Amino acid sequence: MSIVAIVGRPNVGKSTFFNRLIQRREAIVDAVSGVTRDRHYGKSDWNGKEFSVIDTGGYVKGSDDVFEAEIDKQVELAIDEADAIIFMVEVEAGVTGMDEEVARLLRKSKKPVFLAVNKVDNGQRAQDAVEFYSLGFENFYTISSINGSGSGELLDDLIKALPEQEQKTEDALPRFAVVGRPNAGKSSFINALIGEERYIVTDIAGTTRDSIDTKYNRFGFEFNLVDTAGIRKKRKVKEDLEFYSVMRSVRAIEHSDVIILVFDAERGFDGQVQKIFWLAHRNNKGVVILANKWDLIEKDTKSAKEFETYIRRQCEPFTDVPIVFMSVLNKQRIFKAIETAVEVYENRSKRIKTSELNDTLLPIIDRTPPPQHKGKYVKIKYITQLPTPHPCFAFFANLPQYIKDPYKRYLENQLRKEFDFNGVPVTVYIRKK
Ligand code: GDP
Ligand code: GDP
Repeated sequence: MSIVAIVGRPNVGKSTFFNRLIQRREAIVDAVSGVTRDRHYGKSDWNGKEFSVIDTGGYVKGSDDVFEAEIDKQVELAIDEADAIIFMVEVEAGVTGMDEEVARLLRKSKKPVFLAVNKVDNGQRAQDAVEFYSLGFENFYTISSINGSGSGELLDDLIKALPEQEQKTEDALPRFAVVGRPNAGKSSFINALIGEERYIVTDIAGTTRDSIDTKYNRFGFEFNLVDTAGIRKKRKVKEDLEFYSVMRSVRAIEHSDVIILVFDAERGFDGQVQKIFWLAHRNNKGVVILANKWDLIEKDTKSAKEFETYIRRQCEPFTDVPIVFMSVLNKQRIFKAIETAVEVYENRSKRIKTSELNDTLLPIIDRTPPPQHKGKYVKIKYITQLPTPHPCFAFFANLPQYIKDPYKRYLENQLRKEFDFNGVPVTVYIRKK
């Protein structure tokens, strides 16, 4: 998926515009310490073309003195990661020195740049905006982030400049992405696996420019292992490691079937790890959690059980997820990890016959039917699985509007109990019959 970055000095309206682009979709916030404000990442679409947006963040107010050093990094990040850049300025203040500095850096890049002169809320301001032609960008737009005017023309041109959707890999092999925070042990894990060379079929370039795929064969099962760790090692911008790893994860997750989430058991299943976990869940991907560096944890007999309870609490309500305690260092359970990912893949691709679904679930539903609504019986008549990449089930009912979330969760739990969807998001729809 293409990435669009929004850059510009503080207060020009970047985050206002960002929020307009992603609308009610959720943003991922990447906390950046020090002088920069949090970065936000979200998804948007225009005329049916989806793209990702990064608001590269602003600067903490009153930190103009650090600006020169920081701006380089911010713009470098955008130039590196994005397919197109929206350079935002605003008409109230006119062209400032900071705008000129950003313009200078952007002109050196080969990425398409769209200059958005913001806060053009009325006709007078539209006339004032012409002074920004002096920055020297051909793609010139006047917009108002607050009322939305002008953004249509900008987006029309922007999506034309984005690369065509990435081609699917010709081999339709399952894709397992190894993701997690820096230093969790992802590279060590992959090296340990592919160290066993006899299993490697071939090395191929990643479908996205920031991952490496290795075609791998184990247990008579062929798949692509997507490595998000290797490339960022070359990065010079050390402070941005975390951000890069989130970006890598975001893209790898979108292109994969099963997410192998590696975390450092000593550091815990912290907020950043959870963020990646929920991203996988929101994208309806299969998930395996690997608690790595298990060798570093002091253990008595109960320890693994307690640790597992702790992790599951962080995963609520999606707790039906396999957790493997692994030590790459001691080569402990690294193959168990892959075996588990294969099982999750199979669960995600599982197709259950309508007759089997109905024979199994209708008696259960009969025993615990949906609650009555104002004296009316709510009846589920039959169930079928939809032909989607992840398991989705349609329950046909006479009064679907009266079946609420708690009962839908009950149905999901029954599906999990009867058919095993360990590690896989399951969606329940209630439809009118
Ligand atoms: P950022 O620091 O670049 O992310 O800027 P913000 O999005 O936080 O906006 C800075 C200020 O400008 C806020 O008070 C916004 O309400 C205001 N603002 C943003 N867009 C517009 C606009 O189109 N017109 C006007 N008049 N104000 C705007
Ligand atoms: P990545 O950033 O996620 O790719 O992490 P690396 O694979 O580079 O590992 C980070 C550090 O953790 C390295 O020093 C590894 O040697 C170490 N490490 C990886 N796995 C284990 C493990 O199972 N136990 C211990 N004690 N250290 C590990």
